[in-house]
Amino acid sequence: MAPGFATPVDDARLGLEFAWTAWADSCRDKYSLAQCCRRPSGHDGNHASGFGEGRQQWLQDAPPT
Ligand SMILES: [Zn+2]
Repeated sequence: MAPGFATPVDDARLGLEFAWTAWADSCRDKYSLAQCCRRPSGHDGNHASGFGEGRQQWLQDAPPT
């Protein structure tokens, strides 16, 4: 995990979220050309995509202060 990342979201929880979230209801923040966030739109914490060794998490943009 790269320095500066927020607390990683539990892998098992992410698996459940991905399974229960339809594409149309997902966040879809871009990580790369091939990957975007599969968590529910409006989620807390990191964006995430992928399974197993392909799992990625990345920070949401910091809110304006
Ligand atoms: Zn997201």
